Amino acid sequence: MSTISFENTEIAFEYKSDKELKKARFLFASMGKAWLVKLGLKLTPLALKARLPVKGVIRQTIFSQFVGGESLHETSKVANKLGKFNVQVILDYGVEGKEGEENFDKARDVFIQSIQYAATQNNIPFLSVKLTGYARFGLLEKLNKSSRYDEIIRGIVPLHSLNEIEKDEWQRVVNRIETICEFASKNNIGVLVDAEETWIQEPVDALTMQMMQKFNLGKAVVYNTAQLYRKNRLRFIKDSFLFSKGNNFKFGMKLVRGAYMEKERERAALMNYPSPIHNSKEATDNDFNAAIEFCINPANGVYIIVGSHNEYSNLYATELMEKFGLPLHYVRVHFSQLFGMSDNISFNLAKAGCFVSKYLPFGPIKDVIPYLMRRAQENASVSGQTGRELSLLKQEIKRRKASARS
Ligand SMILES: Cc1cc2nc3c(=O)[nH]c(=O)nc-3n(C[C@H](O)[C@H](O)[C@H](O)COP(=O)(O)OP(=O)(O)OC[C@H]3O[C@@H](n4cnc5c(N)ncnc54)[C@H](O)[C@@H]3O)c2cc1C
Repeated sequence: MSTISFENTEIAFEYKSDKELKKARFLFASMGKAWLVKLGLKLTPLALKARLPVKGVIRQTIFSQFVGGESLHETSKVANKLGKFNVQVILDYGVEGKEGEENFDKARDVFIQSIQYAATQNNIPFLSVKLTGYARFGLLEKLNKSSRYDEIIRGIVPLHSLNEIEKDEWQRVVNRIETICEFASKNNIGVLVDAEETWIQEPVDALTMQMMQKFNLGKAVVYNTAQLYRKNRLRFIKDSFLFSKGNNFKFGMKLVRGAYMEKERERAALMNYPSPIHNSKEATDNDFNAAIEFCINPANGVYIIVGSHNEYSNLYATELMEKFGLPLHYVRVHFSQLFGMSDNISFNLAKAGCFVSKYLPFGPIKDVIPYLMRRAQENASVSGQTGRELSLLKQEIKRRKASARS
């Protein structure tokens, strides 16, 4: 049994002022109102498109709760604050949905600058990357269609499906990602490749495998992501691991349950193919926890990031570390929660000595809207989540009041 508890709100919110706590309470109370979230999700993009002055409100509310800042400079203040409590940071240039070669090159340059910055800090071990920030969605979709599972596992992208112009386009994507991984490797920073929609994921997996093979020689620099809400991801982890073992490179994997469930199910129903998502939460949980066990097991020695706000899964990971005789401060096992969520898990894990980080996006307000929408949706649809955040915040506000009186 683990001795770690996630109930201690004093540790969880030590980094927040009274004012910040109350602001967070207000936000989570608002996100608990499904009708309000629904309305916000509909109106916000329209208001931004019509250039209505809504940025100020967004900045003061949902943006400051879930995003580090608009620039790297602004974000550094948040990162430094977290560092004071031994909480690390996974930096994420959160701009999404911007296509075009110019934007892709710009994203690469911002990434390089972010690595340069991270290398000067002692609490930013990783940066995360979404391939859709560096490649055209349609190109990934086309590659996905002609992908074969056994080839993806070996890092083979089905280039035969592309014409000459597209082949050049893909080569530029590879070059961008390779430049990033090489620079990160030289600067001792890890690169976490996010998982996205299943209909573009195959080339993402294959390219990530290529990068692991190239850069994960002494240790893991590049990590892929497995979404365990997918029916076949446990097998994918095991098969990818076997390939890494056979080819003598380290295997890095971020484990998440997955953020696109509704979208995935809707598309599968609309296009009449079997949903790739587990039929129940329980099945997702079983695979997620089994994946943690497979990766932590020293016989496999996978480098993992447990990316979850689920208290049981996080505790289970620490229990497995104890069971396998590993110290909690162990470089191969890293925990992470999104900035703005589950501070009770992050700060209590950090206090217990674990490597734990906040996933901290940054970028201009208008460009991080898709990310903010997913957070609003997540906190509105996971009924337990908002309620739990809210009750922890209330508990801490009450505790501070009582301790001020005594
Ligand atoms: C560090 C970090 C990195 C992340 N990176 C990615 C990423 O690269 N790609 C990505 O997609 N997401 C990513 N996420 C988001 C992540 O997928 C969600 O935060 C996560 O799914 C929320 O689940 P949870 O583990 O916190 O636990 P819980 O709150 O216990 O689980 C909720 C999740 O369970 C699954 N679920 C819920 N109901 C059902 C059901 N009926 N049937 C089947 N499954 C169900 C869904 O995935 C849902 O989100 C990341 C999160 C973190 C913390």
